[in-house]
Order: sequence, then structure tokens, then C-alpha cells
Amino acid sequence: MENPVKIILKKGKEQSVKRLHPWIFSGAIRKIYGSPSEGDIVEVFSDLDEYLATGHYQIGSISVRIFSFDRGEPDFAFWSAKIEKAYRLRQQLQLAGNSQTNVYRLVNAEGDELPGLIIDYYNGIAVMQMHSIGMYRIREQLSEILTRLYGNHLYAVYDKSESTIPRKAGLEVKNDFLLGDQHLATVTENGCTFRVDVKEGQKTGFFIDQRDNRNLLSAYCRGKEVLNVFSYTGGFSVYAARNHASLVHSVDSSAPAIELTDKNMALNDIPSGVHQSFCTDAFSYLREIKDRYDLIILDPPAFAKHNDALKNALQAYKRINQAAIEQLRPGGILFTFSCSQVVSRENFRKSVFAAAANARRSVAILHQLTQAPDHPVSIFHPEGEYLKGLVLYIA
Ligand code: SAH
Repeated sequence: MENPVKIILKKGKEQSVKRLHPWIFSGAIRKIYGSPSEGDIVEVFSDLDEYLATGHYQIGSISVRIFSFDRGEPDFAFWSAKIEKAYRLRQQLQLAGNSQTNVYRLVNAEGDELPGLIIDYYNGIAVMQMHSIGMYRIREQLSEILTRLYGNHLYAVYDKSESTIPRKAGLEVKNDFLLGDQHLATVTENGCTFRVDVKEGQKTGFFIDQRDNRNLLSAYCRGKEVLNVFSYTGGFSVYAARNHASLVHSVDSSAPAIELTDKNMALNDIPSGVHQSFCTDAFSYLREIKDRYDLIILDPPAFAKHNDALKNALQAYKRINQAAIEQLRPGGILFTFSCSQVVSRENFRKSVFAAAANARRSVAILHQLTQAPDHPVSIFHPEGEYLKGLVLYIA
């Protein structure tokens, strides 16, 4: 490594680094020696010239994403050790090397001390999504590490960073394969089978973070009429149908998602007549359901991506939850989620509370949910907790 650029923090700003928070905001910097390009490796020092951390430099309000609090060269062995550590955690979680589940998140950015890097594993296809130029620059190395780690359990590595990489560096980032060219995977999750298109699908292809919540749903479905709203490729719907729901309806506005939902139902041998999908707008569908359902799942996309959209997002959560709570049959169950990072657990709960109060139904909280443990949250970086869910009993 050439001499890394040195960044000196303002007095007092070393505190958050000493508490192992992985971001340096631009306002915390007193001086930069040299002019680093986006993605360069930089070393961070206190105003007393004490070494604090090493990370990737970037342009924007977060100036450094820290990947190490120990001085040393981030070479191939360094990145390998980090990814192997992440893999060992997935083994401990009974995900890596499991025959009932072969789809999981291998690397969850800050939660695995690899800020800016997401890697999802789809039964032989790894999908990488970089959120920093620093990680993007080492993508070939990362692909090589994955190849060595998985051996013949890996036949494709797809870099899907086009929409996630920061634009400021002026790089022309295109999604492409670093290994193989297969974009369709058939994966197993808790014994359910799903077809995943890593190229055309949303995010990296599948919403892996809901695995445990889909599993929890199974226990509530027997004999029930179930509505899955914002169903994407039918994750919750397949679990419901396989676990003896008498009827499952899936609603999503994306035609390719609905098409894949129908394929997923067939893959799981769900008898026709049990499931039906509707490619339509969720908000208008929810207005008309009357008392048709015993159980409703609401798993919308992030309504707020930024703080300025927060108020409207909370209104939207209230609106859909109120529609569901008002119309569920007595004794009904609602699985309701928010995946917006800027919506706090408390704010989400308040929106659902307002919905319940407006609906004037008796509502009790049965479970409070979050993302599956292969999406770990660093205790030093609480911002990494984004998925919030409630299971409600509507008397
Ligand atoms: N529950 C899913 C993930 C949902 S992602 C799973 O477990 O896999 C959110 C979904 O909402 C996307 O598929 C998107 O197409 C859909 N969506 C977004 N806006 C919508 C709207 N207004 N009406 C219906 N579906 C919508």
C-alpha cells in the first residue's frame, strides 16, 4: 500500500471513533493531508495525532467508511479473513451448508464490519452490491475470495452495483458478471422453493431479510384466508399456502413479480384454486376488501428513503394499516412491516397505533419483529437496524 492519506479530526470528534462507530462525517474533519480520490484508503487521526482507524474515503456527508480500527495493510489476506469470519457466522446460524435453506446474506455491510458491501448467496450465485467506491475497486479480489471460499458451490458472481454506487466519482458502473453468467437460481428456504432472477429481480433478487418472519407466519395459516399485499415474488404467499391456508391472494403492482409468484406456487405444488394473484395497486385493492380475510400481510417498499419524506411515509403506513385493521375478520391477524431506515421503530408503532385507534378495533401486539440474523446489526452502528414488524391480533 502506498502511504495512505492522513485525515485529522477536530478536537472531541475522536469520541465516536473510539466508540467504534464506522462513519466519519465531513463536519468532523479538521485537515486532510493531500487530496484523496473517492475510494482511496485513508488513515484517521485525532487532533493529538493519535491513530484511530483506517477506511475508504468518499465524497459526501459521510467522508470515511471505517473497515479497521487496527493499523495494517488491507491486502487480499485481510479481506479474506473478514469474509471468512462472516461465513463462519452464517454456519453458526445454520445457514451456510444447510440443505433446508441455501439462500442467505453472507455480508451485511457495517453489521459484518465491511461498510459499503452487501453479498447475498443464492444456491451457487453470489450477488454483490457495493455502496462505496472503495469496495467497488476491490470487486475482483472479492470475487476471487468467494471462489476460493465456496469452491464448486459457486458458479456465478454478479456485481449489481449500478444503482447503489455513489455517482459522485463519475464512474460508469454497469452491472456485470465477475464469474459465470447464470442469472436464474432455484433456492430453498425452510423447505420452500423459489425461483430467483438476480439480474431482473428487485434488490439482489429476493427479500432474504424476511426469512424468519415468513417462518413465523406458517404457524398462523391453517384453515385461514390470507391476503399478502406487496407480495413481490410470493415469499409469504408460498409459506402460507404450504402451511394449509385455505386461500391465499397475492397483490403486487409489478407484472414480472406476479409472474414469478405464479411460477413459485407451481414449484411448491400448491393446488390451483388455493392461490390467486392480482397485479394491481395495493392502496386501491385494500379499500375494497371488506371482511374477506382472516390474515393480512403488509410488507410495502420503503415509503421514505430520506428524512424529508418521513411525514408522508408515516401517513401512508397509517392509511394501509387502518384499511387492514378495519376490514379484517374478528379474531384476525395482521403481519405489518416497515423497511424504511428513516422510520424508527417507535414512529412505525405510533402510525400503527393511530391506525388502530381510527379503526376503533381492539388490537393487541403478539410479536415484534426485525430482520433475520444473517442481516446482523453492529451494536456500534444502530443505523443498521431497518426492518420493523408487528404481528397484531384484531379481536
Ligand atoms: N414481501 C415481499 C417483499 C416486498 S417488496 C417478500 O417477502 O418477498 C415491496 C413490493 O411492493 C415490491 O414487489 C413492489 O413491486 C411492490 N409495490 C410497490 N408499490 C406498490 C403499490 N402501490 N401497489 C402494489 N405493490 C407495490
